[in-house]
Amino acid sequence: MSDIHILSEKLNNREIQLLDLLRQYPLRIDQGIWILSEPPKNLVEYATNNVYTINLKALSTLEEKGLTEKQNNEIHLNHLGQKVAEYLQKVASHLQEKHNKQSTRQELSNAKLAKSNEMLELYKQGLSYREIGNQYQITRERVRQLLDFNPAFHEYLIEKKQAKAQAQKEQEEKKRQQQLAKSIIALYPEPVAELWDYEKNAALSPEEVGAGSTLLSPWFKCPIDGHSWQKRPNDITTSWNRGASGCPKCARRKKKPESHLLNTD
Ligand SMILES: [Zn+2]
Repeated sequence: MSDIHILSEKLNNREIQLLDLLRQYPLRIDQGIWILSEPPKNLVEYATNNVYTINLKALSTLEEKGLTEKQNNEIHLNHLGQKVAEYLQKVASHLQEKHNKQSTRQELSNAKLAKSNEMLELYKQGLSYREIGNQYQITRERVRQLLDFNPAFHEYLIEKKQAKAQAQKEQEEKKRQQQLAKSIIALYPEPVAELWDYEKNAALSPEEVGAGSTLLSPWFKCPIDGHSWQKRPNDITTSWNRGASGCPKCARRKKKPESHLLNTD
């Protein structure tokens, strides 16, 4: 067996083809000219239809390798040649079988993918694994496996995740814009420019502080006397609405001469 294997390894494709041809039909040479001698043109012309000039060298090497013999104007395989040809045929059919199996596997895989794509469409419509499984009469676990096998499913999950992150980002930006619209600097730009104590408020920006906020007490600084004080935005804007700066020092100075008038309350 191994000798046959070694012999077959030494054959080129044309020799293998010829061997297979000889396995089925002996080669008749009507003019009686054996091919080990230099093949004259008439051999080519009278050889069977399947043998062309280009095969003649292969025919002679097959004889040199001891695989063919001549008998009654025919070239046919000898015992060894027959064995090698059968061996090669077996190898070829084995390869063919393997190829067929691969094709079948490919077809099955394609069918599986097609089914998985259908399920993916249902999944995109919002159906659960169980609901999809009910439609195909399979378990939810089988649905999960079939989807997991599909690269498109994983792409969809990534896209969905990205879309969710994007929506969240947009929502946050919308919230920030809404907050900004209600901020102390948006509603009272001039008093804030004049009075906001950027130094003491440090990282706290007037864009982050709502005009109606009662939770924080940012610092304000009077441009007249340099006095700095803390006030809740809701309270200081009440002063601003009245046209006052809200500075307690300035208010005291104003109030002093009027103080006796306010004794009624
Ligand atoms: Zn003041």
